[in-house]
Amino acid sequence: MSVTDTFGRPLRDLRISVTDRCNFRCIYCMPKEVFGRDFQFLDRKELLTFEEISRVARLFHDRFGVKKLRLTGGEPLVRRNLERLIAQLAAIPEVDLTLTTNGSLLVEKARALRDAGLTRITVSLDSLDDKVFRAMNDVDFPVATVLEGIEAADKAGLRPIKINMVVKRGVNDDSVVPMARFFRGTGHILRFIEYMDVGATNGWRMDDVVPAKEIIARIDAELPLEPAHPNYRGEVAKRWRYKDGQGEIGVISSVTQAFCRDCTRIRLSAEGSLYTCLFATQGFDLKPLVRGGRSDAEIVEAVEALWRVREDRYSEIRTAGTAGLKKVEMSYIGG
Ligand code: SAM
Ligand code: SF4
Ligand code: SF4
Repeated sequence: MSVTDTFGRPLRDLRISVTDRCNFRCIYCMPKEVFGRDFQFLDRKELLTFEEISRVARLFHDRFGVKKLRLTGGEPLVRRNLERLIAQLAAIPEVDLTLTTNGSLLVEKARALRDAGLTRITVSLDSLDDKVFRAMNDVDFPVATVLEGIEAADKAGLRPIKINMVVKRGVNDDSVVPMARFFRGTGHILRFIEYMDVGATNGWRMDDVVPAKEIIARIDAELPLEPAHPNYRGEVAKRWRYKDGQGEIGVISSVTQAFCRDCTRIRLSAEGSLYTCLFATQGFDLKPLVRGGRSDAEIVEAVEALWRVREDRYSEIRTAGTAGLKKVEMSYIGG
């Protein structure tokens, strides 16, 4: 069965946040002033268990045909024994299972993730300049360790690796061209993400956004590019390839060129709430159903009802005023 929302958009991808905790404090995601020592993260008992997550994912697959699953967080690799969950999810037929990580723990974990059945990985990396990188993760984490993590993932066979770089003006925009140069020809796919007004804590201003067009122009001036066709309808990253055949890059222009009309994603928070938009102010609490002995049919019915009335298109209607809304934090529902 497939289900469509009020704009005729099907439900295709499920993003699963496995924890709201993180060992980084990226300035654009978990600023220290808010996520400090006293911040109350979710209690372990509140988190969905691996079995509960797998049940939900399997229902999304069996009843709605969802084949794309992405594990995220917080930092997914700080959740203990994550390999166990990966093995359970990898057992779902035809599933495309990926994970987004800050890369800090990959040296130790890449092999086990691969062995458990993970097929691909996305690593977030905002600069190659150690000083800039340490300032952005705000916990003084060295860039060299993330680069070693990327190598470990490559060796383990988690290819092709996607590298996500959030660009914030005046902070790391000087790293755009060096990053392109570094990853060109490696087979890894670098993707530039416009800095977004997710959550309510990062103090977002339009002036801080470097538009995708500008990012492409800056790279093109030194490493000539040409547009590439999308791989599939609804692909969020616009693809560009190097004219000399040395690979491709992507830009995710969620601010300057919204792609809501093709948005087929639903997000499951670590404590079991469903969000039909990254910028939602409210979720649907699925946990009482999952934990309360309800049948599969009842859970499916609730999800279907939620998706049918979905009318989210935040990025298309974003204004300076909407940026201040009390939206859910990205570290809570995942990117
Ligand atoms: N901790 C993991 C990581 O950093 O890859 C996974 C979770 S993180 C919330 C997922 C993605 O969201 C990362 O690539 C991160 O850079 C991106 N992100 C976080 N805050 C953002 C913002 N304000 N604008 C754009 N992207 C953001
Ligand atoms: Fe942590 Fe990822 Fe958010 Fe950075 S972007 S604070 S690594 S969850
Ligand atoms: Fe999807 Fe909401 Fe982002 Fe639009 S703003 S692309 S509806 S998550």
